[in-house]
Amino acid sequence: MNMQNLLEDIAGAVQSQLGQGQVADYIPQLATVDPYCFGISVATRDGEVYSAGDARTAFSIQSISKVFALALVLALDGEDIWKRVFREPSGNPFNSLIQLESEGGIPRNPFINAGAIVVTDRLLSMTGDAAGAVRGLMREETGNAGIDVDPRVAGSELGNSHRNASLAHFLASCGNLENPVEDVLDSYVKQCALAMSCEDLALATRFLASNGLRTDGTRLLSPAQTKRINAVMLTCGTYDAAGEFAYRVGLPGKSGVGGGIVAVVPDKCAISVWSPGLGRSGNSVAGVAALDEFTTRTGWSVF
Ligand code: GLN
Repeated sequence: MNMQNLLEDIAGAVQSQLGQGQVADYIPQLATVDPYCFGISVATRDGEVYSAGDARTAFSIQSISKVFALALVLALDGEDIWKRVFREPSGNPFNSLIQLESEGGIPRNPFINAGAIVVTDRLLSMTGDAAGAVRGLMREETGNAGIDVDPRVAGSELGNSHRNASLAHFLASCGNLENPVEDVLDSYVKQCALAMSCEDLALATRFLASNGLRTDGTRLLSPAQTKRINAVMLTCGTYDAAGEFAYRVGLPGKSGVGGGIVAVVPDKCAISVWSPGLGRSGNSVAGVAALDEFTTRTGWSVF
């Protein structure tokens, strides 16, 4: 298989899907992005990178950051986080409030907003700078020291964060936050506002395709921890569309409302796609179509 040709074919095949869906506008700064962008990158386990389309354009990674925050917390703090967050699919939108009260302030999983806020809270306790820790991991795994928080996106989200603030206050009322709500929200919006390209994200996600080994050969996670993160990505990484994502793509994946998705082919490669038009559950329409095409044509799926 010629990977470069394949990615170019896929970029051609999804052209008709570009512009479909809605660009996220509840974070006003995200609505300024061109909905016709599309990029795809594959980073293999041994460090080769293949790309097509707008794969070098930086975009807002949003909820994709939740995977990296969780990986750091597991690496620094072991399994204790699972006392504060479940790992079941929620079947509800990523910013839903509804289960949190009936389940006593323990979020359904680390990839919905409530769960990610708890993970970021723990990372803040452990490092003093949660967004800085996620940014550091991204820079080290990619070798790109230019990766940074986009302050316009962070400010835009912080100014419109009543929903996440209510989740955080409810968590605090249940004793499930260690830090002040304002500090946790500030860290959370900054980690979500990291700007990265498909190439950066595919490289940064490679440890999940390498049994937890980092680019420099040191270990971030044990093979078992890596397996578990991938499992939670498969069941919860695309929210209330995780079943449809598994059906179409058949890989662990994590989406963000900036239109990016990362997916993992264990032992082979990490894939990143980006196109800003989102479907009803907040996943990139063309991005899911491209990943569907990729796994259908390569046969590289976990099923
Ligand atoms: N920062 C966004 C939010 O909290 C992330 C959501 C997402 O990407 N699904 O709403």
